[in-house]
Amino acid sequence: RVRVRFAPSPTGPLHIGGVRTALFNYLFAKKHGGDFILRIEDTDQNRYVEGAEQYIIDALNWCGIPFDEGPSRPLQNDSVNQGEYGPYRQSERKQLYRQYADALIANGKAYYAFDTPERLDFHRKDHETKGKTFIYNWHNRLKLDNSLSLGAETVKKRLDAGEDYVIRFLTPQDEKLHLTDIIRGSIEIDTNILDDKVLFKSDGMPTYHLANIVDDHLMEISHVIRGEEWLPSLALHQLLYDTLGWKAPKFAHLPLIMKPVGKGKLSKRDGEKMGFPVFPLSWNESIGYKEAGYFSEAVINFLALLGWNPGTEQEIFSLNELVQNFSLERVNKSGARFDPDKTKWYNQHYLQQQTDKKLAELFKADLQAKGVDISQPDLYFEQVVSLIKERATFVSEFWELSDYFFVAPSTYNERAVKKQWKEGTPELLNRLVSILETISDFTSENVETQVKGWIAEEALSFGKVMPPLRLVLVGDMKGPHIFDIMDMIGQQESISRIRKAIT
Ligand code: GLU
Repeated sequence: RVRVRFAPSPTGPLHIGGVRTALFNYLFAKKHGGDFILRIEDTDQNRYVEGAEQYIIDALNWCGIPFDEGPSRPLQNDSVNQGEYGPYRQSERKQLYRQYADALIANGKAYYAFDTPERLDFHRKDHETKGKTFIYNWHNRLKLDNSLSLGAETVKKRLDAGEDYVIRFLTPQDEKLHLTDIIRGSIEIDTNILDDKVLFKSDGMPTYHLANIVDDHLMEISHVIRGEEWLPSLALHQLLYDTLGWKAPKFAHLPLIMKPVGKGKLSKRDGEKMGFPVFPLSWNESIGYKEAGYFSEAVINFLALLGWNPGTEQEIFSLNELVQNFSLERVNKSGARFDPDKTKWYNQHYLQQQTDKKLAELFKADLQAKGVDISQPDLYFEQVVSLIKERATFVSEFWELSDYFFVAPSTYNERAVKKQWKEGTPELLNRLVSILETISDFTSENVETQVKGWIAEEALSFGKVMPPLRLVLVGDMKGPHIFDIMDMIGQQESISRIRKAIT
């Protein structure tokens, strides 16, 4: 059975790169009828950030990619499995890890090390001054303060005395590892370049490496799909599985998400500089995609295409279509460049897909926040929205595009006035008012027929009547069909706006 997990550490808000990892896990699981698991990797107490776990859960829910198993009940799935494989927070699994560290020690595959942080720092600096990098491994482990260099007696004494220690993995020497990654193919690693990573600390907590592979094993994870930044850990993880006699899951490391311009991976600063969100939801001062007015469908769609390609020209995918089409074989090896304009393009697309009812609701909420009177009937908002939405990327642009549906213009675009307002204009508009006054059923069609009839009859020019009419009704040369606007604001208001302009 396919079982995959998204395993964030609650050290802050989820970056959209993290959401992309979660999404690819979700898509892969659902494509294969498998399970998508959320595991909270909170073994590093120093980096724990209050509220981060809830943020992760809220973000997944907003994106519409709920987990099947996880630490607390997801909002969209009441029947979440807490039993068989739980708990799903590593801090709650604490007692589980020690035995594996001990087993590794008993088999001579791991060892105690007592080097103090100060001492390790000294070694690092000392190497640096010589232009070298300090790696704790076969080069030097016998010269350092650990159970390989000390006698068993001494080790026991120091442990009994309660001295701080760590348990390090004894990386095998002179071995060639053949690793496989679904996206990258086979990778060869010489074990001599690896360091003896810390697996366990005397505070009773495992490190990421130990906890991660123990949990993936116990939770029967079939595929590990994670960011490229974890590729350097693959060798150690494979060694740990082999040493513990466990079958390793299959691995797929996703390509980095790159800055919109230049080199390097997308960072929070890029978003701040160029004015686009990097978080799904707001976090402190940083505005999220949700709050910036993005539809979650748009976010999912653009994230799916950051690193994956369908092999066709298709760009628009619903979540369901993504599930149908997704495969890890179609994930690219090279970094995926983030394009903020494309995210807007997607939002514009998904905005057009929403019902007018939904858009009207969002528009009303926006106006309410702005303090604009929203006493018109809902239908009025729906009609306004249907007339202007095709020009909008975000609901927040609706007001700017439609204010004249709600209030008479208080100023007129100066350039337009200069161009359209002629000597005879007031007189013409005055005559137009008398035509408008006679119309008993003030619908778009009726008004159009009457006004056009009048223009034809009197042999007037369209160019002399229509632009000034738009100008006085809207305040500018923008907006949809002018007779639709008149229909919407009504006979009285149309006439009053014309009168106001010519007196
Ligand atoms: N806790 C790791 C992270 O924060 C998980 C890496 C993995 O998926 O193995 O990304």
